Amino acid sequence: MRLKIANGTLVSAGGSRQADVICRDGTIEQIGEVDTSQVDEVIDASGWLVFPGFIDPHVHSRDPGLTYKEDFAHSTRAAAAGGVTTLLEMPNAIPPVTDATVFEERAAQHAQVASVDFGLWGLALGPDNLSDIGGLFEAGAVGVKLFWGYALDRKTRALVYNVGDVAPENLIPPPATGEVLDLCREVARVGGLLAAHCEDRGVIESAERRLEGQLATYDDVLRARPDTAEAVSIAIAGALSAATDCRFHVVHTASREGVRAVKRAQADGIRLSAETCPHYLAFTDADFARLGGMMKVYPPIRTATDSAALWAAVNDGTITSIGSDHAPHTLEEKSLGLASAPAGVSGVQTLGAVLIDAMLAGRLARERLAWLLSEGTARLYGLFPRKGALQVGSDADFTLVDPAAATLVEADRLYSKQRYSPWEGQRLRGAVKAAVLRGNVIARDGEPQGEPRGEACGRLVRANHGDSPQ
Ligand SMILES: [Zn+2]
Repeated sequence: MRLKIANGTLVSAGGSRQADVICRDGTIEQIGEVDTSQVDEVIDASGWLVFPGFIDPHVHSRDPGLTYKEDFAHSTRAAAAGGVTTLLEMPNAIPPVTDATVFEERAAQHAQVASVDFGLWGLALGPDNLSDIGGLFEAGAVGVKLFWGYALDRKTRALVYNVGDVAPENLIPPPATGEVLDLCREVARVGGLLAAHCEDRGVIESAERRLEGQLATYDDVLRARPDTAEAVSIAIAGALSAATDCRFHVVHTASREGVRAVKRAQADGIRLSAETCPHYLAFTDADFARLGGMMKVYPPIRTATDSAALWAAVNDGTITSIGSDHAPHTLEEKSLGLASAPAGVSGVQTLGAVLIDAMLAGRLARERLAWLLSEGTARLYGLFPRKGALQVGSDADFTLVDPAAATLVEADRLYSKQRYSPWEGQRLRGAVKAAVLRGNVIARDGEPQGEPRGEACGRLVRANHGDSPQ
C-alpha cells in the first residue's frame, strides 16, 4: 500500500518546504517527486500544511475504572478526529499502571480499541513502588507521573481528592520530599523521565485555612491555590533534579510564577522541562462568568498576566510541549458548583484546532507548533524519530491542515464520551483536513474513518529514552 501526499507544504520544527511525501507499509519511503502511477492513493494537499502527526502527551481516558466518564475507544476516536495520531495515556486508571505487569495488561487491553497509536505512563507512588520504576521504563513507559501532594486509596490506589472522605488507615500518604528525592535518584539511575503535578500541598493547606473552607467565587479558587504553590513546588523539583541529575518534567504549568521558577532552574542548567495546556493559553479568570465550573482545573486557570507569561514561554522555548490534560467528567458532575465540581476538562479533540487558530492569529510560528505538538514532545518522551519526524523511515503519521478553512466546535461533532467543550460554539481559524496514521487515513474533515481494526488500529509505542536524550 502506497500513499502519496501531493503538493503540500511540509512543516517541521526546523523549517517548511514544498514537497510530496510517499508512504509505504506504514513508514515514510520518500520525500520528493515520484510517478503518481506507482501509488495506490493520492491526497491532494495543495494549499495545506503537512505537519508530523500531532502527539498529545497528557490524556486521562479513565479506562478501566471510571468508564462512565470516558474510555479509551472514545478518547482515541476524539484524538483522531482532532488530528492527534499518538496520545500518551496517564497512569491513574483503576488499577493504575504501577508496575510492568499492569503496563502490559493495559497495553494489550487498549490495543483492542485504539484509533490512534499510544504510549503509556507509569505511576510513581513513592516508596510503595520504587522497585518497579526500572521495570516500567524497560517495558517502554514514556515517563512516570507523580501526583505530588496527593494521597492515594490504599486498596484501589486511586487518587484521593478529599482526604476527609477516606479513613487514615486506608490512605497512602503523599510521599515526603526525601521520598521524592529517592524517586528522582531511581529515575535518573534508569535513565527515565519523572513528571509531576507541581502545586505544593503545604502552601495550599495554609491558603485554605485562611479561606476557612469558603469557595464561593472564582477568586476564592485562585486564593485557595495560589501561584506560590506552583512556584514552590517547581523550585523543590529543580533542587531534587539538580541533586540527582534526574530529568524532571513539570506538567500543566499554569502561572507566571511557575514559568519564572522553570526559567530559574533551566538557567542553572538543571534538566527541568515544562508543559502547558491549551486552556491556560486560551482562557483567563474573566471567562469564568461564561464557562462556570466547566473551566475548573488544577492548577487553576489564572489571569491575563499569567496567560501572557505562558505564551511568552511557549515561544521562547521555556515550555517544550503542550498537552490537552484531557480529563473528562460528566456534565452533571461539572455542574455541581464551584466547590464540588471535580477538576478537569475535555480537550484531546480540540488541542490541535486551538493551537492552529493561535498560529493563524500570529501567536506562534508554524515551525514552533510542529515542535510543541510533535517533534519536541516525541523527543521528550523517547519516541523520536519514529514519531515526530518528517523523514524517511519514520512512521507515516501526518496532520494535514487547511489554513484557509475554519473549525466550528460543535457538541455533535465531538467524539469523547462527554460531548461538551469549553470551546463549544467557537469558530476557530484553520481546520484539520485529514489525519494519517502509519499511512492510513484515520480521519477526514473532523470525522474518524472506519473502525479501529487491523492496520488502522492504534498500537502501543514503547519509549526508548536511551535513543533520544533531552
Ligand atoms: Zn492530568
